[in-house]
Amino acid sequence: MQEQIKTIKETIIKAIHSVTDEAALRELEVRYFGRKGAFNEILKGLATLSDDEKRVVGKMANETKKELEAAIVTQRSKLQSSQLGAIAETEWMDMTVPGTTPRVGHRHLVSRFIDDLESVFGRMGFDVATGPEVEEEHYNFNQLNVPEDHPARDMQDTFWIKNLHKYVLRTQTSPVQIRYMGTRKPPIRVIAPGKTFRKDSDATHSPMFHQVEGLMIDENISMANLKAVLAHALREIFETPSIELRFRASYFPFVEPGLEVDCTCVMCNGKGQTGTRIPCRLCKKSGWLEIAGAGMVHPTVLKNGGVDPERYTGFAFGVGIDRMIMLKYKIPHLRLLFENDLRFLEQF
Ligand SMILES: [Zn+2]
Repeated sequence: MQEQIKTIKETIIKAIHSVTDEAALRELEVRYFGRKGAFNEILKGLATLSDDEKRVVGKMANETKKELEAAIVTQRSKLQSSQLGAIAETEWMDMTVPGTTPRVGHRHLVSRFIDDLESVFGRMGFDVATGPEVEEEHYNFNQLNVPEDHPARDMQDTFWIKNLHKYVLRTQTSPVQIRYMGTRKPPIRVIAPGKTFRKDSDATHSPMFHQVEGLMIDENISMANLKAVLAHALREIFETPSIELRFRASYFPFVEPGLEVDCTCVMCNGKGQTGTRIPCRLCKKSGWLEIAGAGMVHPTVLKNGGVDPERYTGFAFGVGIDRMIMLKYKIPHLRLLFENDLRFLEQF
C-alpha cells in the first residue's frame, strides 16, 4: 500500500507540473482529490490493515496529500504570474508616446462677429436683447407703425406662417424694440442682433440674413447722439478710426425723420480710388457705402412701447450684419457665409 501511495504521488506530481492553465489544474484536483478521486480510492484500503500499519500508512498518506496540495498551490501561482506576464507582453502601452490631439472647431464667423458687436456696444452701455424669430404680425408691423397697405406686408416680401394666423418669420429685428420698451423704463440703450427673413434671393440677398437693431431712448436724445454712437461703433468694428458718416433723408414708417446712413468706404477711405487713379470697386468710385437705416423713433412707436413721447426721444438704427462682415473681410459673395464650406470658414 505504501508503494501504491508512492506511485500515485509521482504520477500526480508529474501531472501537476505538466498542466499549462488554471482550468486544467482545477480538473486535475478533482480527478485525484475529489470525493471519488484516485487518492481517496487508495485510502479506502486502510480499513483492511492492522492498527499499527494503519498508523504508519495513514501518517504517510496525510503527509503525501499535504505535499501534493502544496505543489498545486505553487503551480497555480506560477500559472497566474505567467498569465500576467503574457498580458503585460500583449497589452502594454508606451506612456511616453504623445497623445492624439482631437480636431477642435471654432465658432462661425457670423457668431464671432455678433460677439464683437455686443462688446463694442456693451462698452457704450448698451444691453443685448433677443426676440422670437416667429413673430406676431402685431409686433413685426402694427406696433412699428407699418400701415395696413404697406408693401412690406405683401406676400412677396414676408414669410407668413401657414396654419398660424397672423404670425410671420420676422422681417426685421425691430419688433424687439417694442418688446424691450414694454418691459423697461427709459433710459434705454439696447441692441438686438439676430436672424431675419425675407423672400429675397440673389448674389447679395439671402432669404435668411442677420441684422442688428439699436435703440437709445432718454430725455434730450437727438440725431447728434445717433451719429456719435453709430460712428464710434463702426470705427471700432471696422478697426478704421477715420470712418465718417453722412445722413440722407429716407422713409421708414417707425422713424421720423428717417435716414439712410452711409459711411466712408472701408477700402479706399472715402477717396473713391485705391492707389493712384485705380477706381475703388467696393464703393464704385463714390467713396461712400450704404451701411444702415436709421432715424428718430416715431412718437407713435414710443407710445406703443409705453414710453411718453412728450418727455422722451430716441433713435433707432438697423444694420445688416452679413454686409458688415463682407465689407470687413472683403468677402465677395453673401452665400459663402451660409454654405458651411470648411475651406472658407477655416480662414477666419
Ligand atoms: Zn471705396
